[in-house]
Amino acid sequence: MSQASGRHFLQIPGPTNVPDQVLRAISSPTIDHRGPDFAELTHQLLDAIKPVFGTAGPVMIYPSSGTGAWEAALVNTLSPGDRVLCFETGQFATLWQEMARSLGLQVDFVPGDGRHGVDPGLVAEKLAADTARSIKAVCVVHNETSTGVTSRLPEIRQAIDTTGHSALLLVDAISSLGSADYRHDEWGVDVTVAGSQKGLMLPPGLGFNAISDKALEASRTAGLPRSYWDWKPIIEANQRGSFPYTPATNLLYGLREALRMLDAEGLPAVFARHARHARAARAAVRGWGLEVMCLDEREHSGSVTAVLVPQDQDADKIRQIILERFDMSLGAGLGKFTGRIFRIGHLGHFNDLTLAGTLAGVQMGLQLAGLDIDPGGVDAALDVLRSE
Ligand SMILES: *Cc1c(COP(=O)(O)O)cnc(C)c1O
Repeated sequence: MSQASGRHFLQIPGPTNVPDQVLRAISSPTIDHRGPDFAELTHQLLDAIKPVFGTAGPVMIYPSSGTGAWEAALVNTLSPGDRVLCFETGQFATLWQEMARSLGLQVDFVPGDGRHGVDPGLVAEKLAADTARSIKAVCVVHNETSTGVTSRLPEIRQAIDTTGHSALLLVDAISSLGSADYRHDEWGVDVTVAGSQKGLMLPPGLGFNAISDKALEASRTAGLPRSYWDWKPIIEANQRGSFPYTPATNLLYGLREALRMLDAEGLPAVFARHARHARAARAAVRGWGLEVMCLDEREHSGSVTAVLVPQDQDADKIRQIILERFDMSLGAGLGKFTGRIFRIGHLGHFNDLTLAGTLAGVQMGLQLAGLDIDPGGVDAALDVLRSE
């Protein structure tokens, strides 16, 4: 594959394709992170990032993966032994609750089938049953990247409110931020966790926490040990345009460029583009006679479509054929769904023909793997792209 000509198709649901102008911005010379130019960049970025989260509050930017930002959300708001309510939407929810356990939190992990989002009714039921008010946080993965299911956050917020429970709402928006409608303030989210390498079109390496006043208040008494992730010194340093430790300078140049691009397209248009590509991808999957993982029409992901393969097929073998023949990477099934599904990433720097090429590669790969599919799948997707 080292001799492949043309561009590699990186159609995993993150890291996503990085636009050329973002790559160019990242390749600028590294500057003094304590100098005046950098302070200006910091102030500019900390403002420009807010609309993407839908917040007027502070946003922490860490030199970390998304997993680091998960940890930051937990250690800044909770104390050893606190109960947290988590929902098994898929592999990422599973990993986050494992982290919570390893940090010394008590986790109620509500089982799920991987084909539905968090059930708002179940959130209300669990919180109403907690008459001692011992649950301190509800953790939700907004877009479960491992299954292509997006949970209905406004309804989850409403469910929490109907119980009058004061638990914090912590949300992983790593693969929805910048590709699906997201409203930290309006939805009453206390901590939004995000990362750079999905909808924000950057390489991996930045983690984010958007935080509410209530989360900030909780951080004043939260007892979990923390140092690197501590919000307080970051907020103080940010006010001066700096960070408590060396930030990922060049990724921040990239972030400035990516935010400019999102702003120029307009967030509503960005979200509509993702939703439309997702509809076209589902039309292809159904056209082939295959099944989309997500079973609820209200919960389809705009950023990734997970495709269930027939029982007698190995999804990883199909991915391997597609990589070898067409130089395209698709997402693997994770955890419980290893070998059972493959995932088509359609988020970030992406247009109609990227999707058409992606789906053509998938269709040929399915045929080469010997699946008895209907070759009308790609046409069904093109119909959507042509008409919507
Ligand atoms: C990618 C992803 C993560 C993990 O982020 P890393 O940067 O790999 O640590 C967590 N949650 C979701 C929903 C993701 O899509």
